[in-house]
Amino acid sequence: MKVQVNRDMCEGHGKCQSAAPEIFELRDDEISYVLVDEVPAESVARVEAAIRLCPRQAISWVKEK
Ligand code: SF4
Repeated sequence: MKVQVNRDMCEGHGKCQSAAPEIFELRDDEISYVLVDEVPAESVARVEAAIRLCPRQAISWVKEK
């Protein structure tokens, strides 16, 4: 599964990085970047937590076509 951050909505709170530091990285521009192409199975629960915790609802799964 792939995850994405909507950069127009992200306000750099960093809750995603706290929840799943192996997946999200807050950079100097205060926007969260996704570090992986595919989210490994062992990280899915942490990504789900990041989606719940993001105060801007900026994180979402990418729907597979
Ligand atoms: S928690 Fe949401 S608003 Fe905060 S840095 Fe992560 S994606 Fe951006």
